[in-house]
Amino acid sequence: MAASLVFRLQDRGPQLVREVLLERGWKEYDGRKREEEDWNLYWRASAFPEYHSLLPWQRLNHHPKTAGICRKDLLVRNLRRMRATFGSALYDFSPTTFILPNEYTRFLAEYNRLLPARDRSACWICKPVDLSRGRGIFLFRDLKDLVYDCSVIVQRYVSSPLLISGYKFDLRIYVCVKSFHPLTVYIHQEVLVRFATEKYNLSSLSNVYAHLTNTSINKGGPFYKTPKGQVGPGCKWTISKFRHFLQGQDINELFLWQRISNMVTLTLLAIAPSVPSCPNCVQLFGFDVLVDSEFKPWLLEVNHSPSLTLECQTDVIVKTGLISDLVDLMNYTSADRLRERAYQTHRNINVNLSAPVPLLPKMKNHNFQRKNKKSWQSQTECSQRDSLAAYQRRLPPVVARYRAANTAAGETGTGQALNWILGSYSKTNMAGPALSSHQMKYGPRVTEVTNRDNTETVAETELSGENEVASSVPDTRSRRSTFRRSTDSSRFPNIHRGSHRVHVQGPVVLTGQQIPPTRVGGFIRTFPFNPATLKASRDTLDVLVILQELQKLTGQVASGRRDETKEAREDGADDDDDRFDSLLWGPEDPLPLSRQFKNAYRHADT
Ligand code: ADP
Repeated sequence: MAASLVFRLQDRGPQLVREVLLERGWKEYDGRKREEEDWNLYWRASAFPEYHSLLPWQRLNHHPKTAGICRKDLLVRNLRRMRATFGSALYDFSPTTFILPNEYTRFLAEYNRLLPARDRSACWICKPVDLSRGRGIFLFRDLKDLVYDCSVIVQRYVSSPLLISGYKFDLRIYVCVKSFHPLTVYIHQEVLVRFATEKYNLSSLSNVYAHLTNTSINKGGPFYKTPKGQVGPGCKWTISKFRHFLQGQDINELFLWQRISNMVTLTLLAIAPSVPSCPNCVQLFGFDVLVDSEFKPWLLEVNHSPSLTLECQTDVIVKTGLISDLVDLMNYTSADRLRERAYQTHRNINVNLSAPVPLLPKMKNHNFQRKNKKSWQSQTECSQRDSLAAYQRRLPPVVARYRAANTAAGETGTGQALNWILGSYSKTNMAGPALSSHQMKYGPRVTEVTNRDNTETVAETELSGENEVASSVPDTRSRRSTFRRSTDSSRFPNIHRGSHRVHVQGPVVLTGQQIPPTRVGGFIRTFPFNPATLKASRDTLDVLVILQELQKLTGQVASGRRDETKEAREDGADDDDDRFDSLLWGPEDPLPLSRQFKNAYRHADT
């Protein structure tokens, strides 16, 4: 029987991830029973110490170097840079902010400029740069009330938020970045609407229950359990209640959702070029968005590890489905033969060895290990070399190649080593060969090992025969390999087939490029959303083209009409657009873009 998939949690949490995975038949990693690398998914709240030395079956729940949007001060810097480069018309969704103490003089100038409006609207909010859950936050109008003893940001307070029954709220939007190279973004249909638990009142800035919408704060408030007008008891709504509320308002709801979706893309574009390619990573971000009384969305912050604790029934509804869909988005099958074979073969070989050979995990000097490094390091160089050589001869080919290259390359060569296994097209190829002209023209073949989208064609599926990982690396070693080689590069299992919950739309292949599925469960692909953005996100990110396309789409959503320009018809872009359909994120039953606008034409014609 094939091996179950194995998940590994840092500090035994979050419980929700454990429950969802156990329910799907996964096994939890146990360091006493399993070898160091014998897992498929490692889930941590914080960033991983390193991302390079991953084996083909391993995935992480964070991308490297995303602090650029997840730390409050870095987010400010990055959005400011984007605004300076690409204009404030697009990057207008972040309130004016200063990083203190460094920018104190600039803050003072702005503070003085706004002094005449100090009576009501000119409020400021001060937030420690690296704290979360509302800790250390306070509001002030008067400079003398600004007291801080750590690095903080001081931000214009959005003083006229949209209120429901007089209560302030914000939206926690769940965004999954499936890949940064090429940029592939999904936003979940479920959103948490998080309320303050006392009525909004600008005359008492010190009342955190009226001004902050963090659950961690409000659940301790005196009115948490009390019914609060339309809001009801507690402090959370699902998106369906919020949609219902919006329908009673005189607004273009689609336009609001599209502005939020734009905000997500524009924020991710700020760091996308600097995030190293790591196809084995997937990350769930929590975007906190405040909607003001004019229905303009403001980005408050981006969470690196959105809370997955279940505090109320709304959390259960929203977060359970979210994690389940996230696992679907990661494309696992119900079992992993690759990992199993690597370890099975390794165990069999070890049993027959007379000389003691280091266990598989001890071969790699990576930070996940809780091993006793000293005993390994205390061996003489000579015996190390001998046992390494003996060991590598006996390892399953994929792992052996990885080990050998890894050892030869030393600490810095691990990316290269992994490339050797994954093939020259692998996106993990951080310092790899340049793209051939064919690849430049048609895009690299999708060989993203473990992050492979569920976009293989029927023919490919038939060819593969079964859902297992195979390697294209020419195996000049042992014929004992239990790994199945394929002409395709490393193939990773598809999304659970036969799962009833999963709603996967796709696949489509467009001019040689595979398009990620339109939706996976509640996750809607928001980027790329058309052939131009698909092209602009391949190889090197063409931010300008992406921004133009975003503006075009937003204009269409605002007016409800497709931009049928002469050029678009002439260059055949419409044909591609129809084949590459996307959904507008936000509405309950999102329509494909093509139908969305076709309906609008019909509407306009009648
Ligand atoms: P934390 O990481 O501590 O949650 P946030 O930046 O999300 O920090 O702020 C916490 C809460 O404070 C938000 O959920 C929101 O209710 C309120 N808040 C933060 N910034 C602003 C702002 N500029 N205008 C209005 N309210 C804000």
